Amino acid sequence: MNKINDPKIELHLHLEGGAPPSLIHQMSKEKNIDISGIFTKDGHYFFRDFTHFLSVYEAATSVLTSSDDFYRLTKAVLEQSAQNGVIYTETFLSPDFCGGADVIAWHDYLAAIKEAATEAEKEWGVTMRGIVTCIRHFGPDKARSVAFCAAETAGDFIRGFGMGGAETVGTQGDYAYSFNLAREAGLRLTTHAGEWGGAESVRQAINDLKVERLGHGIQVIEDHSLVQEVIERGITLEVCPGSNVALSIFPNVKSHPIAELREMGVKVTVSTDDPPFFHTTMRQEYALLANAFKWKDKDFQELNKNAVDAAFCDDETKVRLLKELDTE
Ligand SMILES: [Zn+2]
Repeated sequence: MNKINDPKIELHLHLEGGAPPSLIHQMSKEKNIDISGIFTKDGHYFFRDFTHFLSVYEAATSVLTSSDDFYRLTKAVLEQSAQNGVIYTETFLSPDFCGGADVIAWHDYLAAIKEAATEAEKEWGVTMRGIVTCIRHFGPDKARSVAFCAAETAGDFIRGFGMGGAETVGTQGDYAYSFNLAREAGLRLTTHAGEWGGAESVRQAINDLKVERLGHGIQVIEDHSLVQEVIERGITLEVCPGSNVALSIFPNVKSHPIAELREMGVKVTVSTDDPPFFHTTMRQEYALLANAFKWKDKDFQELNKNAVDAAFCDDETKVRLLKELDTE
């Protein structure tokens, strides 16, 4: 039997994307913001396709207007993570949603997020680190402001810089300035690539942004020479099977390429992306993978060790996490 309750490491979780719909609904009532159209009758998020998902996502984030809102959001998200056995999570933080990527505002919002993360670690034993993330469809100029926020707050908590949003807008290379700025500030790099944009988007991410991880990255499988390059460069994939199925990139988990990529030698990990939007949790992802590919404890152990190796935290934290994975 697979111990799907085992401790888990997650590398790809958008903070706002983890917002329980009940919290967003409550905040919209407190602020008299009418976003009732984004919910189903039974209180889940509703969207038709990826483009609609992005607009529902932005509507949900429109109620998050203060640092206190982000404190509440962070607590709620980390409580869910801990309930699903997550002991370490790297969370995408978007200064665009925290005061419009203004550096002074960002400091305030980040302080609230860190306070919540510190409390969550004490209360529930889940460690969080942040990856400041620009949003591709907001354009390269906005991304620069986000990169300045990232560079300004790089340290023990903010460990990385990344990019999410609509992968079909522009090229990865359009954002090279921001990624170079973040790298020079000591931040580690990842970007969403090969979710929608095919293998070409993975090639751009590797060559033009020089990332060491790929958000999704799964469509690299279209190009076997590029798969070899990913393996040789030691690039790790942040794979989110439930998200890909919810957005109809694959009809079900069984037809998802995660197992094939792993067999080819690619370092893969498992994450939830935006769990309540995709009706998933880390526990459910493990259960679906165990069912689809007959993966057992040792398979999930390998995936979690890959995740610790590829995590952006310091070595001391990695040693502690490896101990927790082995002993629990
Ligand atoms: Zn994502």
